[in-house]
Amino acid sequence: MIYLDHAATAPVPRAVADAMYEVLTGRFGNPSSQYPLGLEMKKQVESWRGTVADALGCDAKRLYFTSCGTEGDNWAIQAACWQNRHLGKHIVTTAVEHSAVLESCKWMERQGCEVTYLRPDQQGHITAAQVLEAVRPDTALVSVMMVNNELGNVYPVEDIAKDLAAKNPKTLFHTDAVQGFLEVPFAADRLGADFVTVSAHKIGGPKGAGALYIGPRVRNPRPLLAGGGQESGLRAGTEATAQIAGFAKAVELRQRGLAETLAHLRDLRAYAAEQLSAISDLTLIGDGEAPHILAASLTGWPSQNIVNDLGSQGICVSAGSACHQGKPSHVVAALGLPRRTAGGVIRLSFGPENTREDVDVCAAALRRHHDQRMPML
Ligand code: PLP
Repeated sequence: MIYLDHAATAPVPRAVADAMYEVLTGRFGNPSSQYPLGLEMKKQVESWRGTVADALGCDAKRLYFTSCGTEGDNWAIQAACWQNRHLGKHIVTTAVEHSAVLESCKWMERQGCEVTYLRPDQQGHITAAQVLEAVRPDTALVSVMMVNNELGNVYPVEDIAKDLAAKNPKTLFHTDAVQGFLEVPFAADRLGADFVTVSAHKIGGPKGAGALYIGPRVRNPRPLLAGGGQESGLRAGTEATAQIAGFAKAVELRQRGLAETLAHLRDLRAYAAEQLSAISDLTLIGDGEAPHILAASLTGWPSQNIVNDLGSQGICVSAGSACHQGKPSHVVAALGLPRRTAGGVIRLSFGPENTREDVDVCAAALRRHHDQRMPML
């Protein structure tokens, strides 16, 4: 199998699975228990928090473990709107966010909020100026992702944070960094964002683990789950110790030789862009600043057919986000591309174990698809 869909999820290295197995079996204690098995686990959880916080570039006390990136996005949006409920009910976001943000915003609309959805240009760009222009005195929250999961565009979150602080210092800023964490360099405590969401399974950790950074401007953050006081009383529920152990191990592995890994991903992406561009009717989509994501359209050939054809040959690529299977992607729709181009968009996303040979096999299969199948769009 050739797996080129790391933006959907990444394989778990053996060392991560081993770390989780050990916690599930021998060291299974509840961190709240008061005998050594529990007390040890409490210490462990704090040490794993330190590992993830170091990689995120923040103090461990600002990092809260969650069950996934979706949870972090939901929590951040609700907490920001709660803190600023007396400031106003306006939210600024983009039309190309992950559904975890878009659906949370839609839910806030049902609670009486007004949401501005900024549209990108045809290459998927969103500018800081565009965001700033939409901010009003009653804007409670701005939520702009760090890296677009379908296009690979990197959004100017640092500039947005800086300009936002000048325009409306009370507006809180959330960035969904699920596709940026350990893919593009940033430090949460210098980014200027009040909330930063990350997820474990995009970087070789288990599915069902994530974290949310909550910055110092968020006073008495609104708890997500009330209960037994875990996660400083903000996200109660017995800690998912094995998931957290796996998350921390994946972070540790990824950080080892990170510069080389990112250089390798950039090389693969550039190589794939070159190989795919040589196929007739193929256009690259997005600006491809993120090292691991490449979007392209085989104009006229439906993307789902491409995914099925390549899938039957053991090559995994996606037609937009894995969370939207079968439905047209809202991200591609927001680009306003011609219908035949939009209908043929696929995404390749790379991980450390991929090679140039993987790209060759994929490019050859795409060329065959183009040459042997009729365009249907
Ligand atoms: N945000 C982005 C940008 C993503 O790509 C994803 C997953 O694809 C998520 C949020 C959701 O993360 P999770 O699958 O951990 O809920």
